[in-house]
Amino acid sequence: MSKRDYYEILGVSRDTDSKEVKKAYRRIAMKNHPDRNPDDPKAEDIFKEATEAYEVLSDEEKRAAYDRFGHEGVNAGGGFGGGGGGAGGFSDIFGDVFGDIFGGGGGGGRQRGPQRGSDLRYTLEIDLEQAVHGSTAKIRIPTLVACKPCDGSGAKKGSKPVTCTTCNGVGQVRMQQGFFAVQQACPNCRGKGSTISDPCSECHGQGLNEETKTLSVKVPAGVDTGDRIRLTGEGEASPNGGSTGDLYVQMSVRPHPIFKRDGKNLYCDVPISFADAALGGELDVPTLEGRVKLKIPAETQTGKSFRLRGKGITPVRGGSTGDLICKVTLETPVSLTKRQKELLQELQASMEGDDKQSPRKKTWFDGVKTFFDDMKL
Ligand SMILES: [Zn+2]
Ligand SMILES: [Zn+2]
Repeated sequence: MSKRDYYEILGVSRDTDSKEVKKAYRRIAMKNHPDRNPDDPKAEDIFKEATEAYEVLSDEEKRAAYDRFGHEGVNAGGGFGGGGGGAGGFSDIFGDVFGDIFGGGGGGGRQRGPQRGSDLRYTLEIDLEQAVHGSTAKIRIPTLVACKPCDGSGAKKGSKPVTCTTCNGVGQVRMQQGFFAVQQACPNCRGKGSTISDPCSECHGQGLNEETKTLSVKVPAGVDTGDRIRLTGEGEASPNGGSTGDLYVQMSVRPHPIFKRDGKNLYCDVPISFADAALGGELDVPTLEGRVKLKIPAETQTGKSFRLRGKGITPVRGGSTGDLICKVTLETPVSLTKRQKELLQELQASMEGDDKQSPRKKTWFDGVKTFFDDMKL
Protein backbone atom coordinates (compact mmCIF):
# COMPACT_ATOMS: atom_id res chain seq x y z
CA MET A 1 0.00 0.00 0.00
CA SER A 2 1.55 3.30 -1.02
CA LYS A 3 1.32 6.04 1.55
CA ARG A 4 -0.44 9.31 0.89
CA ASP A 5 1.41 12.55 0.95
CA TYR A 6 1.37 14.09 4.43
CA TYR A 7 0.49 17.54 3.13
CA GLU A 8 -2.35 16.09 1.15
CA ILE A 9 -3.63 14.22 4.20
CA LEU A 10 -3.84 17.44 6.22
CA GLY A 11 -5.06 19.41 3.21
CA VAL A 12 -2.33 22.02 3.47
CA SER A 13 0.25 23.25 0.98
CA ARG A 14 4.00 22.67 1.30
CA ASP A 15 4.73 26.19 2.52
CA THR A 16 2.04 26.25 5.23
CA ASP A 17 3.46 27.40 8.56
CA SER A 18 3.40 25.25 11.67
CA LYS A 19 0.45 27.09 13.22
CA GLU A 20 -1.74 26.37 10.22
CA VAL A 21 -0.54 22.77 10.11
CA LYS A 22 -1.63 22.36 13.71
CA LYS A 23 -5.00 23.91 12.98
CA ALA A 24 -5.55 21.63 10.01
CA TYR A 25 -4.66 18.56 12.01
CA ARG A 26 -6.80 19.62 14.93
CA ARG A 27 -9.81 20.02 12.67
CA ILE A 28 -9.44 16.55 11.16
CA ALA A 29 -8.56 14.89 14.43
CA MET A 30 -11.43 16.46 16.35
CA LYS A 31 -13.88 15.18 13.82
CA ASN A 32 -12.45 11.68 13.65
CA HIS A 33 -11.23 11.12 17.18
CA PRO A 34 -11.98 7.52 18.26
CA ASP A 35 -13.63 8.76 21.44
CA ARG A 36 -16.17 10.58 19.37
CA ASN A 37 -16.57 7.85 16.81
CA PRO A 38 -16.61 4.56 18.63
CA ASP A 39 -17.16 1.58 16.32
CA ASP A 40 -16.18 3.56 13.27
CA PRO A 41 -12.96 2.05 11.94
CA LYS A 42 -12.92 4.48 9.02
CA ALA A 43 -12.82 7.49 11.32
CA GLU A 44 -10.10 5.83 13.34
CA ASP A 45 -8.03 5.26 10.19
CA ILE A 46 -8.41 8.89 9.16
CA PHE A 47 -7.47 9.93 12.69
CA LYS A 48 -4.36 7.74 12.70
CA GLU A 49 -3.31 8.84 9.25
CA ALA A 50 -3.68 12.52 10.12
CA THR A 51 -1.87 11.99 13.40
CA GLU A 52 1.04 10.39 11.65
CA ALA A 53 1.20 13.25 9.16
CA TYR A 54 1.04 15.82 11.92
CA GLU A 55 3.70 14.07 13.96
CA VAL A 56 6.10 14.58 11.07
CA LEU A 57 5.01 17.98 9.80
CA SER A 58 4.92 19.54 13.25
CA ASP A 59 8.55 18.62 13.87
CA GLU A 60 10.93 20.93 12.07
CA GLU A 61 13.62 18.32 11.57
CA LYS A 62 11.27 15.57 10.46
CA ARG A 63 9.43 17.94 8.18
CA ALA A 64 12.69 18.97 6.50
CA ALA A 65 13.65 15.33 6.06
CA TYR A 66 10.24 14.52 4.67
CA ASP A 67 10.43 17.45 2.26
CA ARG A 68 13.74 16.17 0.91
CA PHE A 69 13.31 12.43 0.99
CA GLY A 70 9.60 11.80 1.29
CA HIS A 71 8.34 8.96 3.47
CA GLU A 72 11.75 7.25 3.32
CA GLY A 73 13.25 10.25 5.01
CA VAL A 74 11.23 9.94 8.18
CA ASN A 75 10.45 6.25 8.52
CA ALA A 76 13.98 5.20 9.37
CA GLY A 77 14.24 7.11 12.58
CA GLY A 78 10.57 7.60 13.38
CA GLY A 79 8.34 5.47 15.51
CA PHE A 80 6.01 4.57 12.66
CA GLY A 81 6.27 1.34 10.82
CA GLY A 82 4.99 1.40 7.26
CA GLY A 83 1.22 1.68 7.08
CA GLY A 84 0.79 0.33 10.55
CA GLY A 85 -0.88 3.43 11.81
CA GLY A 86 1.66 4.09 14.49
CA ALA A 87 -0.77 4.61 17.29
CA GLY A 88 2.07 4.34 19.75
CA GLY A 89 3.70 7.47 18.40
CA PHE A 90 1.14 10.08 19.01
CA SER A 91 1.16 10.20 22.74
CA ASP A 92 3.72 12.97 22.82
CA ILE A 93 1.70 15.29 20.62
CA PHE A 94 -1.63 14.31 22.02
CA GLY A 95 -1.62 16.61 25.00
CA ASP A 96 -0.29 19.48 22.97
CA VAL A 97 -3.21 19.48 20.57
CA PHE A 98 -5.97 18.00 22.66
CA GLY A 99 -5.07 18.75 26.22
CA ASP A 100 -7.81 21.33 26.53
CA ILE A 101 -10.48 19.22 24.90
CA PHE A 102 -10.07 15.61 25.75
CA GLY A 103 -9.79 14.99 29.40
CA GLY A 104 -6.69 16.97 30.12
CA GLY A 105 -6.02 19.67 32.66
CA GLY A 106 -8.16 20.31 35.66
CA GLY A 107 -11.34 18.46 36.54
CA GLY A 108 -13.87 17.12 34.14
CA GLY A 109 -11.52 14.72 32.44
CA ARG A 110 -13.78 12.01 31.18
CA GLN A 111 -11.09 9.45 30.56
CA ARG A 112 -9.01 9.02 33.62
CA GLY A 113 -7.97 5.45 34.00
CA PRO A 114 -10.65 2.82 33.58
CA GLN A 115 -13.88 4.18 32.24
CA ARG A 116 -17.08 3.69 34.18
CA GLY A 117 -19.82 1.80 32.34
CA SER A 118 -22.65 3.89 30.95
CA ASP A 119 -25.77 4.61 32.98
CA LEU A 120 -29.00 3.34 31.49
CA ARG A 121 -32.47 4.83 31.57
CA TYR A 122 -35.71 2.95 31.46
CA THR A 123 -39.24 4.28 31.59
CA LEU A 124 -41.57 2.05 33.56
CA GLU A 125 -45.27 2.47 32.96
CA ILE A 126 -47.41 1.58 35.95
CA ASP A 127 -51.03 1.90 36.97
CA LEU A 128 -52.13 4.41 39.57
CA GLU A 129 -52.91 1.56 41.98
CA GLN A 130 -49.36 0.20 41.61
CA ALA A 131 -47.92 3.67 42.13
CA VAL A 132 -49.98 4.27 45.26
CA HIS A 133 -49.65 0.87 46.90
CA GLY A 134 -46.21 -0.10 45.60
CA SER A 135 -45.50 -3.11 43.44
CA THR A 136 -42.84 -5.22 41.86
CA ALA A 137 -42.31 -4.98 38.12
CA LYS A 138 -40.28 -7.16 35.81
CA ILE A 139 -38.41 -5.24 33.18
CA ARG A 140 -36.36 -6.41 30.23
CA ILE A 141 -33.56 -4.14 29.24
CA PRO A 142 -30.87 -4.46 26.59
CA THR A 143 -27.48 -3.73 28.07
CA LEU A 144 -23.78 -4.40 27.66
CA VAL A 145 -22.36 -7.10 29.91
CA ALA A 146 -18.83 -8.39 30.31
CA CYS A 147 -18.15 -11.03 27.63
CA LYS A 148 -18.26 -14.50 29.17
CA PRO A 149 -15.79 -16.47 26.98
CA CYS A 150 -13.01 -13.94 27.53
CA ASP A 151 -14.17 -12.81 30.97
CA GLY A 152 -14.42 -9.23 29.74
CA SER A 153 -10.76 -9.02 28.78
CA GLY A 154 -11.40 -8.95 25.02
CA ALA A 155 -8.50 -11.36 24.46
CA LYS A 156 -9.11 -14.76 22.88
CA LYS A 157 -9.31 -17.63 25.33
CA GLY A 158 -5.82 -18.86 26.07
CA SER A 159 -4.25 -15.54 25.15
CA LYS A 160 -3.88 -12.54 27.35
CA PRO A 161 -3.93 -8.82 26.78
CA VAL A 162 -0.37 -7.54 26.70
CA THR A 163 0.86 -4.59 28.69
CA CYS A 164 0.57 -1.39 26.71
CA THR A 165 3.99 -0.15 25.68
CA THR A 166 2.94 3.48 25.53
CA CYS A 167 1.90 3.79 29.15
CA ASN A 168 3.61 0.69 30.55
CA GLY A 169 0.29 -0.61 31.76
CA VAL A 170 -0.65 2.42 33.81
CA GLY A 171 -3.45 3.44 31.45
CA GLN A 172 -2.49 7.06 31.80
CA VAL A 173 0.22 9.19 30.33
CA ARG A 174 1.75 12.40 31.60
CA MET A 175 2.05 15.21 29.18
CA GLN A 176 3.72 18.55 29.33
CA GLN A 177 1.45 21.40 28.48
CA GLY A 178 3.27 24.65 28.75
CA PHE A 179 4.26 24.79 32.41
CA PHE A 180 1.84 22.08 33.42
CA ALA A 181 2.15 18.36 33.36
CA VAL A 182 -1.25 16.76 32.84
CA GLN A 183 -2.37 13.19 33.26
CA GLN A 184 -4.66 11.70 30.72
CA ALA A 185 -5.90 8.39 29.47
CA CYS A 186 -3.34 6.61 27.35
CA PRO A 187 -4.33 7.11 23.71
CA ASN A 188 -2.84 3.80 22.65
CA CYS A 189 -4.78 1.49 24.97
CA ARG A 190 -7.51 4.05 25.75
CA GLY A 191 -6.89 3.78 29.42
CA LYS A 192 -6.99 0.01 29.68
CA GLY A 193 -3.28 -0.38 30.30
CA SER A 194 -3.13 -3.29 27.91
CA THR A 195 -3.65 -4.05 24.26
CA ILE A 196 -4.98 -7.16 22.56
CA SER A 197 -3.14 -8.98 19.81
CA ASP A 198 -5.53 -11.90 19.52
CA PRO A 199 -9.08 -10.60 20.01
CA CYS A 200 -11.89 -12.77 21.38
CA SER A 201 -14.13 -13.80 18.51
CA GLU A 202 -17.29 -13.47 20.59
CA CYS A 203 -16.90 -9.80 21.45
CA HIS A 204 -14.35 -8.81 18.77
CA GLY A 205 -11.96 -7.62 21.42
CA GLN A 206 -14.44 -5.27 23.03
CA GLY A 207 -14.83 -7.36 26.18
CA LEU A 208 -18.54 -6.57 26.11
CA ASN A 209 -21.58 -8.21 24.61
CA GLU A 210 -25.12 -7.04 24.21
CA GLU A 211 -27.57 -8.92 26.36
CA THR A 212 -31.16 -8.42 27.38
CA LYS A 213 -31.33 -8.53 31.14
CA THR A 214 -34.51 -9.27 33.04
CA LEU A 215 -34.69 -7.35 36.26
CA SER A 216 -37.17 -7.15 39.07
CA VAL A 217 -37.85 -3.58 40.12
CA LYS A 218 -39.39 -2.81 43.49
CA VAL A 219 -41.64 0.19 43.11
CA PRO A 220 -42.14 1.84 46.51
CA ALA A 221 -45.62 3.00 47.51
CA GLY A 222 -46.44 6.60 46.72
CA VAL A 223 -44.27 7.17 43.62
CA ASP A 224 -45.41 9.58 40.95
CA THR A 225 -44.63 10.23 37.32
CA GLY A 226 -41.08 11.49 36.99
CA ASP A 227 -39.75 9.78 40.12
CA ARG A 228 -36.59 7.81 39.49
CA ILE A 229 -35.34 4.66 41.10
CA ARG A 230 -31.61 4.06 40.87
CA LEU A 231 -30.42 0.49 40.60
CA THR A 232 -26.73 0.66 41.39
CA GLY A 233 -24.56 -1.48 39.17
CA GLU A 234 -27.35 -2.49 36.79
CA GLY A 235 -26.15 -0.26 33.96
CA GLU A 236 -23.65 -1.15 31.30
CA ALA A 237 -20.41 -2.93 32.07
CA SER A 238 -17.21 -0.95 31.72
CA PRO A 239 -15.23 -1.50 28.53
CA ASN A 240 -11.95 -1.55 30.43
CA GLY A 241 -12.33 -2.95 33.89
CA GLY A 242 -13.96 0.07 35.50
CA SER A 243 -17.10 -0.02 37.59
CA THR A 244 -20.46 -0.83 36.07
CA GLY A 245 -22.93 1.98 35.39
CA ASP A 246 -26.28 2.41 37.10
CA LEU A 247 -29.78 1.91 35.84
CA TYR A 248 -32.31 4.67 36.36
CA VAL A 249 -35.90 3.54 36.22
CA GLN A 250 -38.19 6.45 35.58
CA MET A 251 -41.81 6.16 36.64
CA SER A 252 -44.65 6.98 34.31
CA VAL A 253 -48.09 6.56 35.84
CA ARG A 254 -50.86 5.77 33.37
CA PRO A 255 -54.00 7.90 33.42
CA HIS A 256 -56.75 6.38 35.57
CA PRO A 257 -60.34 6.09 34.33
CA ILE A 258 -61.80 7.46 37.57
CA PHE A 259 -59.14 9.34 39.51
CA LYS A 260 -56.96 12.25 38.61
CA ARG A 261 -53.89 12.78 40.70
CA ASP A 262 -52.27 15.98 41.78
CA GLY A 263 -49.38 15.33 44.12
CA LYS A 264 -50.84 13.50 47.12
CA ASN A 265 -54.45 14.40 46.41
CA LEU A 266 -56.88 12.46 44.28
CA TYR A 267 -59.78 13.98 42.40
CA CYS A 268 -62.90 12.34 41.04
CA ASP A 269 -66.21 13.39 39.56
CA VAL A 270 -69.36 11.93 41.09
CA PRO A 271 -72.65 12.25 39.18
CA ILE A 272 -75.70 12.74 41.42
CA SER A 273 -79.40 12.75 40.69
CA PHE A 274 -81.58 15.83 40.89
CA ALA A 275 -83.43 14.33 43.83
CA ASP A 276 -80.27 13.50 45.78
CA ALA A 277 -78.96 16.99 45.18
CA ALA A 278 -82.18 18.58 46.34
CA LEU A 279 -82.99 16.33 49.29
CA GLY A 280 -79.50 15.38 50.35
CA GLY A 281 -78.36 11.81 50.72
CA GLU A 282 -75.58 9.32 51.00
CA LEU A 283 -73.46 8.41 48.01
CA ASP A 284 -71.13 5.51 47.44
CA VAL A 285 -67.86 6.91 46.20
CA PRO A 286 -64.85 4.88 45.09
CA THR A 287 -61.44 5.14 46.72
CA LEU A 288 -58.27 3.31 45.77
CA GLU A 289 -58.93 0.97 48.71
CA GLY A 290 -62.55 0.24 47.87
CA ARG A 291 -65.49 2.51 48.57
CA VAL A 292 -66.70 4.92 51.20
CA LYS A 293 -69.97 6.67 52.00
CA LEU A 294 -70.17 10.36 51.21
CA LYS A 295 -72.96 12.33 52.87
CA ILE A 296 -74.17 15.23 50.84
CA PRO A 297 -76.39 17.87 52.39
CA ALA A 298 -79.77 18.90 51.01
CA GLU A 299 -79.71 21.63 48.36
CA THR A 300 -76.29 20.68 47.04
CA GLN A 301 -75.46 22.55 43.85
CA THR A 302 -73.74 20.96 40.89
CA GLY A 303 -69.96 21.42 40.84
CA LYS A 304 -69.61 21.41 44.61
CA SER A 305 -66.56 19.54 45.91
CA PHE A 306 -66.41 17.39 49.03
CA ARG A 307 -63.15 16.51 50.70
CA LEU A 308 -62.57 13.06 52.15
CA ARG A 309 -59.59 13.52 54.43
CA GLY A 310 -56.84 10.91 54.32
CA LYS A 311 -58.31 9.07 51.37
CA GLY A 312 -55.58 10.31 49.01
CA ILE A 313 -51.99 9.19 48.66
CA THR A 314 -49.18 8.82 51.17
CA PRO A 315 -46.16 10.35 49.42
CA VAL A 316 -43.16 8.13 48.80
CA ARG A 317 -40.91 10.54 50.71
CA GLY A 318 -43.22 10.42 53.72
CA GLY A 319 -45.47 13.07 55.18
CA SER A 320 -49.19 13.22 55.69
CA THR A 321 -51.60 11.36 53.47
CA GLY A 322 -53.49 13.43 50.94
CA ASP A 323 -57.25 13.73 50.47
CA LEU A 324 -59.81 12.51 48.00
CA ILE A 325 -61.78 15.37 46.54
CA CYS A 326 -65.13 14.45 45.04
CA LYS A 327 -66.84 16.92 42.78
CA VAL A 328 -70.52 16.28 42.33
CA THR A 329 -72.20 16.97 39.03
CA LEU A 330 -75.93 17.03 38.70
CA GLU A 331 -77.23 14.67 36.09
CA THR A 332 -80.34 15.49 34.12
CA PRO A 333 -82.62 12.42 34.09
CA VAL A 334 -83.17 10.75 30.72
CA SER A 335 -85.79 8.32 29.31
CA LEU A 336 -88.52 9.71 31.54
CA THR A 337 -91.86 7.87 31.70
CA LYS A 338 -95.11 9.68 31.17
CA ARG A 339 -95.81 9.61 34.89
CA GLN A 340 -92.38 11.00 35.77
CA LYS A 341 -92.87 13.82 33.29
CA GLU A 342 -96.21 14.65 34.88
CA LEU A 343 -94.61 14.75 38.30
CA LEU A 344 -91.91 17.09 37.05
CA GLN A 345 -94.50 19.34 35.39
CA GLU A 346 -96.38 19.42 38.65
CA LEU A 347 -93.19 20.37 40.48
CA GLN A 348 -92.42 22.98 37.88
CA ALA A 349 -95.86 24.54 38.19
CA SER A 350 -95.57 24.64 41.98
CA MET A 351 -92.25 26.48 41.76
CA GLU A 352 -93.31 28.96 39.05
CA GLY A 353 -92.65 32.55 39.94
CA ASP A 354 -90.89 31.79 43.19
CA ASP A 355 -87.43 33.24 42.68
CA LYS A 356 -86.29 32.27 46.16
CA GLN A 357 -86.25 28.62 45.09
CA SER A 358 -83.74 29.26 42.31
CA PRO A 359 -81.30 31.76 43.80
CA ARG A 360 -78.67 31.38 41.14
CA LYS A 361 -81.16 31.64 38.33
CA LYS A 362 -82.53 34.85 39.83
CA THR A 363 -79.07 36.34 40.20
CA TRP A 364 -78.26 35.39 36.65
CA PHE A 365 -81.43 36.94 35.18
CA ASP A 366 -80.90 40.09 37.20
CA GLY A 367 -77.40 40.30 35.75
CA VAL A 368 -78.62 39.83 32.21
CA LYS A 369 -81.28 42.49 32.72
CA THR A 370 -78.72 45.01 33.94
CA PHE A 371 -76.54 44.14 30.97
CA PHE A 372 -79.32 44.87 28.47
CA ASP A 373 -80.38 48.03 30.33
CA ASP A 374 -76.82 49.35 30.15
CA MET A 375 -76.78 48.72 26.41
CA LYS A 376 -80.12 50.49 26.12
CA LEU A 377 -81.68 47.72 24.11
ZN1 LIG B 1 -1.55 2.48 27.27
ZN1 LIG C 1 -14.93 -11.75 24.52
